[in-house]
Amino acid sequence: MIRKIQRAFSKNENFFQLSSQQKLREFNRSEDTKNGYLFKWTVWFDHDRPRATDIECYCTKHPIPLKLDFDGCTDSRCENAGKSINFDRLELNIESNLEHKYDIIKGIK
Ligand SMILES: [Zn+2]
Repeated sequence: MIRKIQRAFSKNENFFQLSSQQKLREFNRSEDTKNGYLFKWTVWFDHDRPRATDIECYCTKHPIPLKLDFDGCTDSRCENAGKSINFDRLELNIESNLEHKYDIIKGIK
């Protein structure tokens, strides 16, 4: 009986973990409306720790958001041109937000 309960509990825990991860996967974009940036990424989990991969940045000061490279906006006339993007810091920032949101989803904070 105890084993049955433990197994059921473990199943529920796995289900809870999977549904929490699924919820967090929906947090895959963020917009900086003040500076005209859009960020998109894919969420994955490393031993239940949220991580971001495939991070893409766009400049939203155009009818269609333009992908940025390390030197900023690819349209040389744009005010975001020449503003370099630190992708390492961006990744750390996104992952910090992911970890915070994941704690909230799991009810830790
Ligand atoms: Zn631009």
